[in-house]
Amino acid sequence: MASIPDLYSVLGVPRGASDEDIRRAYRKLARELHPDVNDDPEAERRFKQVTAAYQTLSDPARRRQYDMFGGQAGPDLFPFGDMGDIFDVFFGGGLGGRRTRTRPTRTRRGEDLFIRVELTFEEAAFGVRKEIRADTLEECTRCSGSGCEPGTHLSRCGRCGGTGEIQDVSRSVFGTVMTARPCTRCQGTGEEIAAPCSRCGGEGRTPAERTIPVDIPAGVTDGMELRVSGEGREGRRGGGTGDLYVSVRVAPHPVFERRGQDLVCALPVPMTQAALGAEVQIPTLEGEEAVRIEPGVESGTVIKLRGKGVPHLGRRARGDLFVTVVVETPRPESKEERALLERLAELRGERQQDNGGLIGRLRKLVKP
Ligand SMILES: [Zn+2]
Ligand SMILES: [Zn+2]
Repeated sequence: MASIPDLYSVLGVPRGASDEDIRRAYRKLARELHPDVNDDPEAERRFKQVTAAYQTLSDPARRRQYDMFGGQAGPDLFPFGDMGDIFDVFFGGGLGGRRTRTRPTRTRRGEDLFIRVELTFEEAAFGVRKEIRADTLEECTRCSGSGCEPGTHLSRCGRCGGTGEIQDVSRSVFGTVMTARPCTRCQGTGEEIAAPCSRCGGEGRTPAERTIPVDIPAGVTDGMELRVSGEGREGRRGGGTGDLYVSVRVAPHPVFERRGQDLVCALPVPMTQAALGAEVQIPTLEGEEAVRIEPGVESGTVIKLRGKGVPHLGRRARGDLFVTVVVETPRPESKEERALLERLAELRGERQQDNGGLIGRLRKLVKP
């Protein structure tokens, strides 16, 4: 993907611009650049950019995410897909007979929530249930989400007469162009609240702090984002809930390092055990496990414990554990130790540092 231009500069507004400023800037640019009135291919390219920028910055949750992560927030922030809706909302009437505008619904889905959880290494490996506290919005209990004071109903919008749109007529080189834009009073719904609910002020939702139980599946990795659908904020006037996005941070482990679903660690082995062979205790996520080390094991030898890694996300299979032997070379700490090592060297003919012997040993390493 090419580098993403700054969305605010695409719309020509400052970072702190209000929602209204953003909407106004978008409409102005969209009118200039829309393919129906401007057949310059460059204008079309810019129109797409402007539309994508508006889609992100007009959605509070996405805008917040964009402000936090800039262009790093992933492809979801740039939904070029459903531009048709926006065309139609703003340019539906009178242009080339195109009249497929879908009427905006009175309700709108609630905002998504973004929350971070910190997990221990083991919790990420085996999964865990976390109780997540979130400041959210819940359906108003007084009006059951309708926004109307109990006993009252929605009435027809007094500004647009219930059509949901305001017609504009303008002259251009193509003749008279009629455009329709959503009514600002009723947000294009054609209806307004006659008596707003006294508890929620007509929003149909009220602030609430909620504890949301989230089951983190086994096998998640640091930086992963999980979506819990329907656990975000309640929408305006019963518009359905947004989603909850849980971003996962995993603490490092003192012994293991994770490579995908495999685990790696180092196992220090004293030289004498490495030479003589031994049964050693190897750490695993489920406690220690005894493993036989063959006599003469070399430093760097990797022991594989099948199925002792981390479970694959959503599957039962597990990765493996790879243990690298690190032979610890002793430094003699007493006369007796020194004498024994010297005796051993003598027996093995390793006493004399003659070059012929060294080259011979190197050859043996290269060509076994
Ligand atoms: Zn209410
Ligand atoms: Zn209206």
